[in-house]
Amino acid sequence: MRVTLLGTGSSTGTPQLLCDCENCRSDDPRDRRTRFAILVEQGDTVLLVDAPFEIRLQLLAAKAKRLDALWLTHAHSDHLAGVDDLRIFAFRNGAPIPCFALPETITTTRHRFTYLFDDNEYGDLRFLDPRPVGREPLSFRDLTLTPLHHRHGDTAVVSFRAGPFAFLADLSAIDDAELEKLAGISTLVISCTVRHDHYKHMKLDEVLALAARIGAPRTVLTHMNHKFNHADLLATLPRGVEPGYDGLTLDL
Ligand SMILES: [Zn+2]
Ligand SMILES: [Zn+2]
Ligand SMILES: [Zn+2]
Repeated sequence: MRVTLLGTGSSTGTPQLLCDCENCRSDDPRDRRTRFAILVEQGDTVLLVDAPFEIRLQLLAAKAKRLDALWLTHAHSDHLAGVDDLRIFAFRNGAPIPCFALPETITTTRHRFTYLFDDNEYGDLRFLDPRPVGREPLSFRDLTLTPLHHRHGDTAVVSFRAGPFAFLADLSAIDDAELEKLAGISTLVISCTVRHDHYKHMKLDEVLALAARIGAPRTVLTHMNHKFNHADLLATLPRGVEPGYDGLTLDL
């Protein structure tokens, strides 16, 4: 399995508009973060997690040759606003792209991008095929996906485990029953958006405590805002934890 962190930034990206902070002025390319997306490849199957503003540029950078399905964690714009660019893959596949998401995420996405699901000027071709996600693991081509349900303030989010790999998108709380599904993973990608208290996100210390509890040999932080500097983080994080960066590939 190969996992590519297409985008590791928070909702506003880094550098952030109008910001003149040290990190937004950093020359380190690892401090330039586009919005959250992950590409998961296993065998002949390519699954995209989320479709942010920069998805076209991210998929070009990753030299993506195909796309079999989309997994939408939730319907916030930094995870969804680029979904129109996926039409190209529906044309190529000659079929709508399966879109795995919570029922409420499908409802919101359908409301905002009606033409991707329903009648449109292209006649019979639909672009997205909604696949509601529940509690049970599901199989899709070469992948077996175990949904991981968690909270993000008032918003419900669904991430997944696939074999030795798991990720947790935007996160403020998660039940023990969901954490048990992470036993034995080798690599965890986890959102670490803020340094300090935030009602919608765990802060850095909470993310590190959760990562220690999950105990994956390798933990990679993502969805970081502009308050984080890559080199500084790398030097201070505990053993087994590292900051991600756009384009980082993980071979599992
Ligand atoms: Zn987000
Ligand atoms: Zn800044
Ligand atoms: Zn969000």
